[in-house]
Amino acid sequence: MVTLTHKQGGDKTFVVVGGGHAAGRAIEALRESGFGGRIVLIGEEPSPPYERPPLSKDLLSGKAALDSLWVRPQDWYAQQGIELLLGQRADAIDRKAARVLLADGRSVAYDRLLLTTGARARPLTVEGADLPGVHAVRTIADALALRERLWPGARLLVVGAGFIGLEVAAVARERGCEVTVIEAAAHPLGRVAPASVGTMFAELHRSFGAMLRMDTVLTRIARGPDGRGLVAFTADGFEWQGDAVVAGIGSVPNTELAAAAGLAVDNGVRTDEYGRTSDPAIYAAGDVTSHFNPLLGRHLRLETWQNAQNQAIAVARAMAGGDQPHAEVPWFWTDQHGINFQSAGAPLGWDEVLWRGDPGARPSMVFYRQDGIVVGGATINQGRLMRHLKQLIARRARVDGALLQDPSSPLDRIANSAP
Ligand SMILES: Cc1cc2nc3c(=O)[nH]c(=O)nc-3n(C[C@H](O)[C@H](O)[C@H](O)COP(=O)(O)OP(=O)(O)OC[C@H]3O[C@@H](n4cnc5c(N)ncnc54)[C@H](O)[C@@H]3O)c2cc1C
Repeated sequence: MVTLTHKQGGDKTFVVVGGGHAAGRAIEALRESGFGGRIVLIGEEPSPPYERPPLSKDLLSGKAALDSLWVRPQDWYAQQGIELLLGQRADAIDRKAARVLLADGRSVAYDRLLLTTGARARPLTVEGADLPGVHAVRTIADALALRERLWPGARLLVVGAGFIGLEVAAVARERGCEVTVIEAAAHPLGRVAPASVGTMFAELHRSFGAMLRMDTVLTRIARGPDGRGLVAFTADGFEWQGDAVVAGIGSVPNTELAAAAGLAVDNGVRTDEYGRTSDPAIYAAGDVTSHFNPLLGRHLRLETWQNAQNQAIAVARAMAGGDQPHAEVPWFWTDQHGINFQSAGAPLGWDEVLWRGDPGARPSMVFYRQDGIVVGGATINQGRLMRHLKQLIARRARVDGALLQDPSSPLDRIANSAP
C-alpha cells in the first residue's frame, strides 16, 4: 500500500458517508494517522457522531446526559478542519466521476470514500405498526421520544427479547412501568446465545416484575378503547392493552447506497480485512459491513460497539496507507438489572455449552465449543476473565471440558498453556 504522508495527503479529499460511531472513530484515526487532506462527513442525522449503547440504557433511564454520547465534541471537528454536512443524505455514488451525490442536489468529489452507513431498526410490519405510541430505538430522537412514554405506571409492550428489547424492559421497570415482553422464540436472545443463557435472562426479568411471553408473535396493533392508548394482539390469543409498544426485532444494514453503486453486497457491504470494498477507492466499516475476519477465516457482519470502534480505526489507517489488517475476536456487552453480561466469539456456531459455576449464577461463565474447540463464551459479572476467553477463542484452543468447568482451575493458566 502507498503511504500518504501528511504532505502527500494534503491535496486529497476523503469523504465519509454515515455520521455514526464508526464515522467518528474513522475520522479521528485519519487525523491521528497524519492524513492532512480534506475530510468531508456526510451524515443523515442532525447530530455529530455518537455512541448508541446508552440509547437503551443510561440515556433512556435519564442517568446519562446527551453530551456523554458524542465521539468528539462538535468544536473538535472544526478544530481539525473536518467539514460536517449533517442532516444530509447521500443519495448516490457516481463511481466513474468519483463523486457522492447529496439529496439536496449538491455533490462532493472524493479520492477515497468510506461508507459507514450502519443499520436501521427492523420495522414491525403488522397492521397498526405506524400508530403513535409505537417506537423503535436506534437514534437519539428515538430514545428521547420513548423516554417521554416511560412514566411510572405506564404500560409498555416490548416486541422481541433480544438485547435491545431486554435493556428497554429493564429501564422501563426501573422507571416504574408495567412491562410485558413477547418473543417469537422459545427463550430470549435466541439469535446470539444458547437456551441456558436465554433462560437466565428470562428469570432475571421475571424476578424484576416483567411479564414474558415466549413462542408467540405480534399480529396486530390498534388504538385502545375510546382512542386512548394501544391494544396489541398475539398469535396465541393474548390481548395486551397499554400506553406504548417498542420494537426490538433486530436491524437491517443500510446497504442500498453501496448496492446501487454496484459494489459487492451480501448481508452487508463486502470488504476484506482492510475494509476495502470491490472498488479500490471505496472502503466500508461498522455495522454495514460483511467483513473478512482473519481469526475466524470467514466473512461476518457484526452489530457491536467494539466493531464500530476498532474496525473503523483499522480501516481509516488502511485508507491513510497503513498495512495492518483488522483481526479481532468479536465481543459485546449488555447491562440489565445489575448484570454485566459480556460475550465473545462468533454467534451461533457451537455444538456444546459448558458452564463454569452454576448456570446463570452471579458471577459465572459459560463456554461454547464446536468439535471440542472453544469458539465462544460469555461472562456474567466477571468481565475480568474476558481476555482469557478471547485468548482461547483466538487460538482455537482444544481444552479439556472438565478443566474449563472447574472454577478452581485458573483460567489464565488454562489460556496460556492452551495448544
Ligand atoms: C439502542 C442500541 C443499543 C446498543 N447497545 C450496545 C451494547 O450494549 N453493546 C454493543 O457492543 N453494541 C451495542 N449497540 C450496537 C452499536 O451501537 C452499533 O454497532 C454501532 O452504533 C454501529 O455504528 P456504525 O457507525 O457502524 O452505524 P450506525 O451507528 O448505525 O450509524 C450509521 C449512520 O449513518 C447514517 N446514514 C445511513 N445512510 C446514510 C446515507 N445514505 N447518507 C448519510 N447518512 C447515512 C445513519 O443515519 C446513521 O446515523 C447498540 C445499538 C443500539 C441501536
